[in-house]
Amino acid sequence: AKHEGRSTFCWYTQDLDAEAQKRKEIEQGLVKALKFDQLKLKYQPQYALSDGSLKGYEALIRWEHPTKGMMRPDSFIPIAEDTGLIEDIGNWVLEQACREAALWPNSNRRVAINMSPAQFAAGDIQKRVARALQSSGLDPKRLEIEITESLLISNTDSVVHTLRQIRDMGVSIAMDDFGTGYSSLSYLSLFPFDKIKIDKAFIQDLGKEASTDAIVTSIVGLGRSLNVTITAEGVETEEQAILLRAAGCDLIQGYLYGKPDDVKVHETVQADMTAK
Ligand code: C2E
Ligand code: CA
Ligand code: CA
Ligand code: CA
Repeated sequence: AKHEGRSTFCWYTQDLDAEAQKRKEIEQGLVKALKFDQLKLKYQPQYALSDGSLKGYEALIRWEHPTKGMMRPDSFIPIAEDTGLIEDIGNWVLEQACREAALWPNSNRRVAINMSPAQFAAGDIQKRVARALQSSGLDPKRLEIEITESLLISNTDSVVHTLRQIRDMGVSIAMDDFGTGYSSLSYLSLFPFDKIKIDKAFIQDLGKEASTDAIVTSIVGLGRSLNVTITAEGVETEEQAILLRAAGCDLIQGYLYGKPDDVKVHETVQADMTAK
C-alpha cells in the first residue's frame, strides 16, 4: 500500500509538471502571437427578433497558432488572465475591433467586445477605450463592452465608477452570461446595464425544461421593466427561436443564424425568420 501511495504521488506531480509545462508553452506562444499578428477577431452576427435585421456583431478572439491551427479562446484566455498577458491582448482586441468596425461597409452596426476583469485592474481602461475610439474614428455608440458579473464581485465602487465613465462616452455596457453567477440580479441594481445577454446554458434548455422556459420569460420581462435590451446567445434551433420570439426577446445570436466569421462586404442583412 505504501508503494502504491508513492507511485500515485509520483504520477500526480508528473501531471502537474505536464500541466505547468503546457501553460508555460501557451504563455510564451502568446507573447509571439501578439508580436507576429497571429491573433484574429471573428464576428458573430446579432439580429433583431422583431424583423430579422442585422444589428451588430460580437467580436470573438481566435489564435491562428503556427502548428496547432485555430485555437479557441477557452484554451488561452484563462492563461492570459493568470499571467497578466490579458492586458496587452485585451488592448489589442479593443483597438482591432474599433479599427475594423470603423471600416465596415454598413456604418451603423455595433461591435461588442469581451473584457476580462483583469483589464480593469490596471486602472486606465477608460483612457484605453477613449483612445481606441479616437484613433479609429468609430462612433462610441457603435461600441459595446461585454462584462461578466465576476467583475463586480470585488472593488465594486471603483469598477462602477469606471463603467460609468465609459458609459458617459456613449459606449454601451452589456452583462454577459446572465444567470450563471451567484447574484446576477443584485448587480443589476448596482449598475445601469444597457443590455443583458441570457447565457446559452438557458437557451439550450428551452423547450426541454419548463423551469428554464419560465426563467427565460422572466428575464425578458425583467429587461422590459428595467428598459434593458435582452439578447439570447447560443441559439441553435428554430424551436428556441420561436420560444424566444414568443417571450419577447429583443436580439438573437447563435449558430442558427451565423457562426463567428469575417464580416463580408455583401453580408446577409436580414435573417430569414419567416418560418420562425
Ligand atoms: P462568450 O462571451 O460567452 O461567447 C460566446 C461563445 O459561444 C463563443 O465561444 C461563441 O463562438 C459561442 N457560440 C456562439 N453561438 C453559439 C451556438 O449557437 N452554440 C454554441 N454551442 N456556442 C455558440 P468562443 O468564441 O469559443 O469564446 C469563448 C469565450 O471566450 C467567450 O464566451 C468569452 O468569455 C471568451 N472570449 C472570446 N473572445 C474574447 C476576447 O476578445 N477577450 C476576452 N477577454 N475573452 C474572450
Ligand atoms: Ca460575450
Ligand atoms: Ca456569453
Ligand atoms: Ca462565457
